[in-house]
Amino acid sequence: MDRIIRCMTGSGGVMAAAIDSTYLVATAQQLHHTSAVATAALGRLLTASSMMGAMLKEKDASVTLKISGGGPLGTLTAIADSSGNCRAGIEHPDVELPLKPNGKLDVGAAVGNNGLLGVIRDFGEGVPYSGQVRLQSGEIAEDIAHYYAVSEQIPTVCALGVLVDKNDIRRLLAGGMLIQVMPGASESDIDRLEKNAAALEPVTTMLAKGMSTEDMCRAALKGFELEILDEIPVSYVCHCSRERVERALATLKPKDIVSLAEEQGYAEIKCQYCNRVYRLTRGELENIAASAARSSGQK
Ligand SMILES: [Zn+2]
Repeated sequence: MDRIIRCMTGSGGVMAAAIDSTYLVATAQQLHHTSAVATAALGRLLTASSMMGAMLKEKDASVTLKISGGGPLGTLTAIADSSGNCRAGIEHPDVELPLKPNGKLDVGAAVGNNGLLGVIRDFGEGVPYSGQVRLQSGEIAEDIAHYYAVSEQIPTVCALGVLVDKNDIRRLLAGGMLIQVMPGASESDIDRLEKNAAALEPVTTMLAKGMSTEDMCRAALKGFELEILDEIPVSYVCHCSRERVERALATLKPKDIVSLAEEQGYAEIKCQYCNRVYRLTRGELENIAASAARSSGQK
């Protein structure tokens, strides 16, 4: 199972999280039958969401990341809860693109950079917080760091890596780091962090060497006194259910709900995050439409 570790420097100036997300990304790949470049793009977003979810303090909170960059992959979405458990969906999972001249997957071109990164934090109650920024490169890590800098004024280093074997795309390594400068950081903390970040190896290089997530944090925060806050297991989890599908359907117009069963006498609704299929008969759809009509009549 994948794990996230969270650390803080002794002075409280810098916070770091690191994750080995290999199983998360492999699960997303199996569920969505993603191509190599789609695996890398969706895997990076999923990895980021897991760390961002684990940073939420409220127990029932969740974070949703949505990227629409205008590239051939379409819209990518990842959602994580405050335990770092996460799920993801992608519009066009089978897109293939030529490798970049340096031999790397061209995630930026596949995602596109003409669009937005949206972040929604839902705290389980009250109004969700949402922010969005224009994409910088579509490479995702840079876009997440840009989001924190612009939308939340938190200087952030974000590194995300998904290494896909060229001969067998099921062979993966994936991970990420999120390092943030806290309000109490000194100038020397920031200088040291910048030097460390510049010297930091790519996440998948560190994982391939056998470094643990703690080793990764120690490399990023070299020269700081380090306190480990916690280490938690994270999984690919979808919370969909028949009730949720019915609630979502009830937001449609009553005649549109019933028309879903027109062709086959039933409707099959597939969850975009886990591919589970929910079959609803015409009678069930009529009941949902009737109660939707009643509740809209009450308003
Ligand atoms: Zn689902």
